[in-house]
Amino acid sequence: MSSRRHFIQTLPIACVAVCAGRAAFAADAPMVDEKDPQAAALGYVADAAKADKAKYANYAAGQNCGSCQLYQGKADPKGVCPLFAGKQVAAKGWCSAFAKKA
Ligand code: SF4
Repeated sequence: MSSRRHFIQTLPIACVAVCAGRAAFAADAPMVDEKDPQAAALGYVADAAKADKAKYANYAAGQNCGSCQLYQGKADPKGVCPLFAGKQVAAKGWCSAFAKKA
């Protein structure tokens, strides 16, 4: 078997392994700490009801990570947000970068 053919045949397997690894990593990733400098800068809270409404006038009741365009996950209690690489956010959380899911 040529190395090119072998490469083409093994590529999908490698992709599946990498994707599975990333999913496993995401599920095991630690939660964002509200005191983390980036979280604090964005006003992230694990409970949207506790968002600083005086400081973040863009907050509106009902907004949360689970309904944010950037949230990557199901309706699970936690998911991935690209603003916090390597960590997870609470589906009920909120930050000032909230963008309503289309
Ligand atoms: S950008 Fe969206 S998903 Fe990410 S922390 Fe802020 S509200 Fe949550």
